[in-house]
Amino acid sequence: MLAYKLIGSCLLFSLAFNGQEYEYNYTFFTNSNMRGNYFSSKTSSKGRSSIKNINERLPINELTCHTPGNSLTLEYQNAPGGEWNAAVFYREKRGMDHFKKANYLSFWLFKESSSSQLNELPAVYLMRKDSSLTAGVFLKKLDANKWHRVSFPITLLTNTHNNKPSDFIAVVFSYQEGQESQRHVLHVDDIELLEIDVVTKTITTKPEISSASNEYARHVDITWNQITDRNIRLVKIYRSTDGNIFTPIGVQEAYINRFTDFHGKTGQKYFYSISFLDHNYKETSRSDFVPGMTTTMTDDELLTMVQQASFRYYWEAAEPISGLAKENIHGRQNMIATGASGFGIMALIVGTERKFISRKESIQRFIKILNFLEKADRFHGVYPHFLDGPTGKVEPFFGPKDNGADLVETSFLMQGLLAVRQYFRGNDPQEKIIRDKITAIWEKAEWDWFKQYPDSKFLFWHWSPDQGWIINHNLIGWNETMVTYLLAIASPTHAVSPTMYYTGWANQDSTGIQYRSGWGQTMDGSMYTNGKTYFGIKLDVGVSTGGPLFFTHYSYMGYDPHFITDRFTNYFVNNQNIAKINYRYCVENPKKFKGYGDSAWGLTASDGPFTYSADEPVTWQDRGKITPTGAISSFPYLPVESMKALKNYYYNYGEFLWGEYGFRDAFDLTRNWCSDIYMGLNQAPMTVMIENYRTGLIWKLFMQDPDIQNGLKKLNEIK
Ligand code: CA
Repeated sequence: MLAYKLIGSCLLFSLAFNGQEYEYNYTFFTNSNMRGNYFSSKTSSKGRSSIKNINERLPINELTCHTPGNSLTLEYQNAPGGEWNAAVFYREKRGMDHFKKANYLSFWLFKESSSSQLNELPAVYLMRKDSSLTAGVFLKKLDANKWHRVSFPITLLTNTHNNKPSDFIAVVFSYQEGQESQRHVLHVDDIELLEIDVVTKTITTKPEISSASNEYARHVDITWNQITDRNIRLVKIYRSTDGNIFTPIGVQEAYINRFTDFHGKTGQKYFYSISFLDHNYKETSRSDFVPGMTTTMTDDELLTMVQQASFRYYWEAAEPISGLAKENIHGRQNMIATGASGFGIMALIVGTERKFISRKESIQRFIKILNFLEKADRFHGVYPHFLDGPTGKVEPFFGPKDNGADLVETSFLMQGLLAVRQYFRGNDPQEKIIRDKITAIWEKAEWDWFKQYPDSKFLFWHWSPDQGWIINHNLIGWNETMVTYLLAIASPTHAVSPTMYYTGWANQDSTGIQYRSGWGQTMDGSMYTNGKTYFGIKLDVGVSTGGPLFFTHYSYMGYDPHFITDRFTNYFVNNQNIAKINYRYCVENPKKFKGYGDSAWGLTASDGPFTYSADEPVTWQDRGKITPTGAISSFPYLPVESMKALKNYYYNYGEFLWGEYGFRDAFDLTRNWCSDIYMGLNQAPMTVMIENYRTGLIWKLFMQDPDIQNGLKKLNEIK
């Protein structure tokens, strides 16, 4: 069967943006964020046929690409009796499941002139979830040295109109039983499933750069006005040394109005220009160009740079109706995450204090946030894990049971709000409004409801309005939930007894032991207390070797661990020891993963090459990925080691790791993988914990709150 066509047919197109969530194409490949090979690909060959590969993955090419910065290369030889295959897998991104319909498979092909003149071009298939292949379509003769668009209806592959994008996990190129043995070189780019083959609407917006930075060491940030023209598919970025010859260097999604060019040279001046690409990749004219510089930076300036970049996640990339934080970017565009928003609120305070934004802008944002929170879904005064920004309704992203309150996420939010209540203490009427609104939200939260029954030892994580305590997850430390107990004890209106700190959080009976030994895969620390020594460091409290590093961050962004001493330990010292164990483990690197060492450490929860995972410094929870927030949010505990990691991540890995909102979520050098996303839970802790290290600002604000002081007093009385 032979069926393919080049661009040309004109179908009437109407943009359909019904439904809550922004819809996007199901895209298999635009660019690889790593050089060398493409992690989400797989090659194989049989007989004398061959396909060029690097560790059984497709090579990427930066010189010949349809969208800059790169394309995938299919360099192959066919032979009688032989066969080769190359699969390009869809990279799943958390929450990205609002795809446009899949009616067409589309990609762009470039044949090098040095290739065989015979046209033994591969067939194309889609791979289903069970790894079976659809029918294939052979590609037809191509002229060399130019990009061609290939597009055909998926019905040719599946014989059905009822195709969901997520039915397919890969696009496969393959050739069997060739007649020749000559070298072919193809480049393939922009592989995607489309709802509509060819779009006829054109772009009317004029591209214009609004700013280019001149204060960073190795990168330039370029910004433009937020794009509202739905005909713009991508923004294309150009760079020039002389303002005359411009080279395309990258593309950006239309919903982000910033591009980071990490070119790696300090003291370099370049000129930048942008254009827009429509849904057929047709390009507008370029904007006027603007200069962007790099310069040397002090350690102090580096810290501010990391703080500000992560802050932007919660400022310019916030969900616009609520002003609160998305779960991840790229990801859902309307859904906001309660805990990440609490962390983001603290990052907004840091941004205000460091004058990334004016106090007036900050006040306006907080009024917007509080107006939203007043009206958003609450269950016994407690917010759900996820909310829809435009409507304020609960979004059961983790499944139908999680359609009510989430006490832990709410405690992260309240931690932020109480710090804000202390920050805006001025006489300005708007500052008073902020304080009053926060007090009302805080006092409405029924912490005592979450005991489930009157003489409960524990607080419970979730409550559903129609399914009650169906999840039935009791809060037991050591983990990220200490601040939940503190807030429940400190509540002026719905307090629980301070004794719950010991009966619940630090529970030492069979319930606690069973719980901890279940998730630690060890009995170490199952009594809450641990007492063992790891890498020469004694651990007073903590399961296993202390767990993922976020245990030492989430509860302690406001709650200053210097002032928490219970019957077992002081939590600044204990957190510091957990960080030291994590550091020592990564330096020893028992599984010999690439890159680990004294300047790349910090195992914690993040996106991963296969799935999201909470990594820990034990061999069975170490998967080879390093998460920047691990070391960088540990500045208060290990400033020297954290600074070393920060410099390594920025100066040596910035090309793939540094982007619009600071460090991307995680990377794995063994597998040549870097995350495509930033996570709401991981960016703000960097801003806030660096600030706590530098000035103690968020710690001071939270700890001086009168309700928190009262809660701490109650806790100290039972010690
Ligand atoms: Ca590309």
